[in-house]
Amino acid sequence: MTTSILIVDDDEAIKESVEEFLTLLNYDVASALSADEAINILKTFSPDIVLTDIMMQGMDGLELTRYIKQNCDADVMVMTGYSAQHSYEEAIAAGASDFIFKPFRFEELDLRIKRVLRETQLLKEKTKLLEKMERLAITDALTKLYNSRHFFSIIKTEIERHNRYGHHLSLLILDIDHFKNFNDTWGHLEGDKVLMRVGEVISACLRSMDTAFRYGGEEFAILLPETKLQKACVVGARIKDIIAEEVFEPEADAAISITISIGATELDRNENFTEFIKRADQALYRSKNTGRNKLTYIPIPD
Ligand code: GH3
Ligand code: MG
Ligand code: MG
Repeated sequence: MTTSILIVDDDEAIKESVEEFLTLLNYDVASALSADEAINILKTFSPDIVLTDIMMQGMDGLELTRYIKQNCDADVMVMTGYSAQHSYEEAIAAGASDFIFKPFRFEELDLRIKRVLRETQLLKEKTKLLEKMERLAITDALTKLYNSRHFFSIIKTEIERHNRYGHHLSLLILDIDHFKNFNDTWGHLEGDKVLMRVGEVISACLRSMDTAFRYGGEEFAILLPETKLQKACVVGARIKDIIAEEVFEPEADAAISITISIGATELDRNENFTEFIKRADQALYRSKNTGRNKLTYIPIPD
């Protein structure tokens, strides 16, 4: 892709010679005689690099650099005369990526432009990789829901929010019924497909503020902020009913249904996450002990 450059210099001769040279090297070039003109051009032109003089009438090059770093996604290289009173530190502090003394050899300018582009590219790749690693660290690979590590971090944050604002916070814990039998009969890979599908159904049933997690092997948790227990039970019951309607075909001509059991509860004032989770677990246990494929709730204790 062509690299685009905006040149800003109030010395017309310099502006034009730099422009001519960079155009010859196949850069996509625009130019301005003042910072104001440059800002105007930036409304419709998004350069990779802005090459600006520092000493200019009106807004100077350092102010322009600060403006660009706040408002645009471009690198800034500043140029200044040997005799000028501006330092490298000043330019870097304003957000510039490089600093070059005038007069310069055009070949040197080209090399510096290429170095700035390479460094920016490397930084972008590094940032992307870091974001990906952060996402992977909190994501369950099979279901693509958040993992249990993230559950424990989010539940603490949500409890703090609850304590600060007094909002309701509900929790659902879901567990696939007799899943060991399914795995033993149809194999682990077919079991994995069930887990993935359950994850999809859960995701599809969530409202924007709810968050779902794969809490354990075949257990899921859903945190529902600003939600009373009764409403959380409606969400849970819908998930349970949709799962019961699903048909799995682990082998040709085998149409298998599965069910899930759910425990639901709401956070009490000044409660810690252990007690909160324990009550949801107790509710789940009751669902399991009273026939499975059901949702049981335990309200906040009196
Ligand atoms: P219950 O109704 O009481 O929950 O019975 P269950 O068989 O579902 O419960 P149990 O805890 O005895 O067994 C859970 C099973 O979940 C055992 C294990 O094979 C399966 N499981 C856990 N993680 C995975 C996984 O990642 N993939 C697959 N395919 N199965 C898993
Ligand atoms: Mg189970
Ligand atoms: Mg289980």
